[in-house]
Amino acid sequence: MLKSWRIFIAIIFLSAIGGFFKILGGFVGSSKSVFVDALTSIANTLAIVIMYKFFNISMEPPDEDHHYGHHKMVLGGPISTLMLYSFVAGIIVIDLYETFGKPYTVGILAPIFACIGLAPYILAIALARYIGGTFSYYARFTVIEIIESMTTIAVAFAGALINYLIDFAGAIALSCYLLIELTKSFREILEYISDAAPKEVIRNLESILNGYGITAKRIRIRRIAENLYQGDIVVKLPPNISIEKAHQLIDLLEKKLKDRLNAEITIHTEPESEKE
Ligand SMILES: [Zn+2]
Repeated sequence: MLKSWRIFIAIIFLSAIGGFFKILGGFVGSSKSVFVDALTSIANTLAIVIMYKFFNISMEPPDEDHHYGHHKMVLGGPISTLMLYSFVAGIIVIDLYETFGKPYTVGILAPIFACIGLAPYILAIALARYIGGTFSYYARFTVIEIIESMTTIAVAFAGALINYLIDFAGAIALSCYLLIELTKSFREILEYISDAAPKEVIRNLESILNGYGITAKRIRIRRIAENLYQGDIVVKLPPNISIEKAHQLIDLLEKKLKDRLNAEITIHTEPESEKE
């Protein structure tokens, strides 16, 4: 834990240095595309810190205030990404609007600083890949940043050597990409909170029940975390079965479902003869 904590700090530190050089490139070289890229990089770094924090909270066991566990706390990640990227998008829109129609000169320092800023990111990704585990998520998340950075460098170079409009067009393209990221984050959140029924898990659950000669009258399951489900089902049992027997069977079923599907299911029983 201590080791991974240190690596996490190293990764964040590297991303922050990268962001700093990009900001410098944006201001010193007065490149709009490098400026946009710098802001998204900083938002990305902050988002990772927040994601990590909420991921850890989500692992905590149930307590007085959260009887079902803290799994959904993980949403703090995508929600803060949404917040940070929206904030950055606001700054960018205003900045690009103010520059629109006013020629500017892109200095050669813009792509050079952007290049220097790229190096720490590549290092951070290599580090994250090497460690693996939760860090591989960071690596995937940040590869997009690298592609963005390389595009920015190319565009800023062309802006400095050929025409500033190439740089400006690049800035607009990057902003559009930011909107795509925002939409993705929003979908992720919506999918998570919408209690979507996991079809595959339901099929497996039905076949486990069938193994005991039981069919469910009603099934309600929702995905709680990446690989965890919660829900309740109603099953019919023969009317003459003793309460003790029924209880044993239900206990066994609940345990099976937990072990095999990682599904926390509450089972309600009804006598088979009961009228609808
Ligand atoms: Zn709690």
